[in-house]
Amino acid sequence: MTISQRLKQVRSRIHHAEQTAGRPAGSVCLMAVSKTQPPAAVAAAYRAGQRHFGENYLQEAIAKQRCLSNYRVTWHFIGPVQSNKTQIIASRFSWVHSVGRMKIARRLNQQRPFDLGPLNICLQINIDGEESKSGMSIEQLPELADEISSLPNLRLRGLMAIPAIREDTPSASAPFRKMRNAFHNLVTKGYCLDTLSMGMSNDLEVAITEGSTIVRIGTSIFGPRRISQPAPADPNTV
Ligand SMILES: *Cc1c(COP(=O)(O)O)cnc(C)c1O
Repeated sequence: MTISQRLKQVRSRIHHAEQTAGRPAGSVCLMAVSKTQPPAAVAAAYRAGQRHFGENYLQEAIAKQRCLSNYRVTWHFIGPVQSNKTQIIASRFSWVHSVGRMKIARRLNQQRPFDLGPLNICLQINIDGEESKSGMSIEQLPELADEISSLPNLRLRGLMAIPAIREDTPSASAPFRKMRNAFHNLVTKGYCLDTLSMGMSNDLEVAITEGSTIVRIGTSIFGPRRISQPAPADPNTV
């Protein structure tokens, strides 16, 4: 199947999930996660109408952005943010979904080029408390949301999570529901938020049922990820 056909399939899954959940058509935005995929794959999706793309690895993302500088792509950074990379991230992306620490937020705020306008931010919640994943706990959320919303070059848009993999639908909905509650608690306190970034290839339907506004889809659009080959060993040192 071509990327264009896969995209159509994903759009129809989203449309169905919106209908089933009684949500308006078009209320969920589709982000194509293009990590490990070549620029040609992004270009193919773009020609099929896709505009939002997500990347996890900075070097790879920058190289792709250079190749695709004529395309009007909205770039989202969704990978772990190291503090020595914040300057590049702040100048090359429209969104960062993976802000989990105040230090990172402060640096992004300081380094965001003024002429680009505020950088859109989602706070990443480690919703299942997994060692292997970054993000803050729900308990930390009120304090960080408060501080971040005072930073003039950031615009706090909402929350993001990558739940642990679960076998069945009833248990899969639990972390998304927790996210939705955390989101509503902030809105009730007066924060102006519009984004719940949750749902991937395997769980977009559950995420949409629980209120996701942007799903991050890689495999279902591009197929399996391409693992980059390690550099060949230097024959002189073997
Ligand atoms: C890779 C990745 C995705 C996409 O995952 P698929 O299962 O391939 O759809 C979404 N979000 C984040 C943060 C990712 O790292």
